[in-house]
Amino acid sequence: MPVRLRDDLAALPTYVAGRTVPGAVKLASNEMPLPPLPAVRAAIERAAEAGNRYPDIAVTTLTARLAEHHGVDPARIAVGCGSVALCGQLVQAMCAPGDEVVFAWRSFEAYPIVALAGHAQAVTVPLTAGHVHDLDAMADAITPRTKIVFVCNPNNPTGTAVDETALRAFLARVPSDVLVVLDEAYREFVSDPAVPDGLALAAEHDNICVLRTFSKAHRLAGLRVGYAIGPAELAAALRGVAVPFAVSAPAQAAALAALDHLDELLADCAGAVSEVARMTEVLRSQGYEVPPSQANFVWLPLRDRALAFAEHALENKVVVRAFDGFGVRVTAGTSEEVDLFLAAAGSFGG
Ligand code: PMP
Repeated sequence: MPVRLRDDLAALPTYVAGRTVPGAVKLASNEMPLPPLPAVRAAIERAAEAGNRYPDIAVTTLTARLAEHHGVDPARIAVGCGSVALCGQLVQAMCAPGDEVVFAWRSFEAYPIVALAGHAQAVTVPLTAGHVHDLDAMADAITPRTKIVFVCNPNNPTGTAVDETALRAFLARVPSDVLVVLDEAYREFVSDPAVPDGLALAAEHDNICVLRTFSKAHRLAGLRVGYAIGPAELAAALRGVAVPFAVSAPAQAAALAALDHLDELLADCAGAVSEVARMTEVLRSQGYEVPPSQANFVWLPLRDRALAFAEHALENKVVVRAFDGFGVRVTAGTSEEVDLFLAAAGSFGG
């Protein structure tokens, strides 16, 4: 007799990771085109040389360092195996079977997976025609069963961001017992001062949790470190439901070393931001619709031409991320990589 899997697992969407194709440039996973800094690599090596020991289960030093960096009580921080793991822990910590998790669509593709895996009901709210979160409609979608609303700011995959006025108006409509998760994986690439820092809003509201990651600006995508900052009881619950030892010793050491060299890392982010500006300008001059991006990638809402565009880019040795029927997301690479992509975009006839 086969083992008895959950009946509802058939409905679980699959997370599609950006492909690595030998000989092609990968602009598909929103990674910075630069390796971890030498000092960070040295820290990883030192951690690996420490021998056969489990990591610090409480992630004490990194948590203290993050608390100091952000000026918050360490009790409000939970560090996880990437912020995507924390998305799942949030559902586990908050949702009973059938509770609702509201998020925009399209947004980060892990949200429907973690909602379903956590026995919650995913409630999706379409983006506006301008590919931005429809915060009014999201507030309208809240019911007495809603436990969590994910607001991805800037949004993956569209790069669009909501401004402070819109977010404050939304927060004023959210019941105080519903958690608003501000997923700020791309915060370090934001250049528009109208886009609020979620941590400032979290200081004013008891129902906000901010997610940050070391995978993007800090260039540690392969090491898997993210963190949540929210109310202390929530952070404790997130630690409580975590897989023990989820954050490896090299990952903890690497994140600490990255914080030691934050200025350098942030300076490199400015390069990605200027490549995004160049991609936006050139693509628009080529006739593409490109929503304004506050992240390290651009979005081409090509709808039924998305797969053909990605295929054409691959023929030109560039891997982009296609969302069938919706669009294509392209990460800012080095100038040379962006040149290669823009040439491919310019020669797409489909
Ligand atoms: N949130 C968003 C919006 C993302 O785009 C990503 C990475 N693709 C994550 C969270 C997860 O990041 P990580 O698990 O690498 O910290």
